[in-house]
Amino acid sequence: MDEMPTLEIEIRRRITVAGPMPVGEYMALCLGDPEHGYYTTRDPLGSRGDFITAPEISQMFGELIGLWMAAVWKQMGAPENIRIIELGPGRGTLMNDALRAVEVMPEFRKALMVHLVEFSPVLEAQQERTLEHHSIPMVWHPALEDVPKGPAIVIANEFFDALPVNQAVKTEHGWHERQIEIDLLGNLAFTVPRDPIAHFDMLLPAAVREAPEGAIFEWRDDGVAMELGRRISNDGGAALVIDYGHAETAIGETLQAVGQHAFANPLTTPGNIDLTAHVDFQALARAAEAMGANGFGPLDQSEFLRRLGIETRAAKLKVSVDSDAAAEVDAALARLTGHGRAGMGALFKVAGFAHPSIGVPPGFE
Ligand code: SAH
Repeated sequence: MDEMPTLEIEIRRRITVAGPMPVGEYMALCLGDPEHGYYTTRDPLGSRGDFITAPEISQMFGELIGLWMAAVWKQMGAPENIRIIELGPGRGTLMNDALRAVEVMPEFRKALMVHLVEFSPVLEAQQERTLEHHSIPMVWHPALEDVPKGPAIVIANEFFDALPVNQAVKTEHGWHERQIEIDLLGNLAFTVPRDPIAHFDMLLPAAVREAPEGAIFEWRDDGVAMELGRRISNDGGAALVIDYGHAETAIGETLQAVGQHAFANPLTTPGNIDLTAHVDFQALARAAEAMGANGFGPLDQSEFLRRLGIETRAAKLKVSVDSDAAAEVDAALARLTGHGRAGMGALFKVAGFAHPSIGVPPGFE
């Protein structure tokens, strides 16, 4: 038998001492434990990693987002100083492609200060390697609230799905917070406490409140979405949130574990597998809008990328390359915009947020 991961030993110790652990706490430890977390100890991205993201599939993705940022900056009246903030930049690929795409706009580049919000030392080092050749000031921060005030354009691709999700299970007595225990066989297993969460129903949309017994509801802490909304509303700017998830708050379990491009059991080898859950775009927008930002979308990723001109961009890329490389561009285009099982086009959604003075951000008209 394989040795038990150090993080699992720690999780079992905590459960033994303090009792069953809420799912959200388990997920936060699995991904972000400073010593043994999944993100904090490795670079999980790329074709040889555990999963692949849109910017790793094709340079077109980051390039179009770079042009989106420049267009937003113009809509803001081309301020002399603008912060570009990326939440969870992974290997730095999106930002690298975005900055290259705006090389033709010296005024915009001169105004930029780039802020990367990253909690993994391993990925921060990778981002530094990817981005060091750009002569643009860059700073790293562990969290969004550490980024200094000032007008900003914020980008988050596959960031919110990695934030810890909480779960509740409905019984005849109400909603019970889902937890993790050590079962009679000595395995980590899901459980619920006898007592329901007091007044939980009052926080739920009507459709969710009427869910049948056995239904699972997931929710996240609103902190980051509120901070995003607060920044935009106080300091000006806009944000783009791209992730997989649902447009409206709904019941259903979406917590999943992925290792080596395949699904795994979320309770095995904590710290060695990726855990994610769908983003509830309605809850995200509610939190950001409550703080004063205007919300737009969500649109399907395919629609958004088409509106930004991905097809023209692909055609242009294909002109100067051989037939193998041209086929790769076509494959990437299909993957980013396709609606089938292999495509990200419909599962992934794009939401925009903006200060009321900006009007409608590009792509959301
Ligand atoms: N945006 C990148 C990477 C997505 S993976 C891409 O599209 O390829 C998620 C990223 O968010 C990683 O960089 C991870 O280390 C970071 N991350 C996850 N949770 C975080 C948190 N709570 N605080 C800061 N960074 C976080």
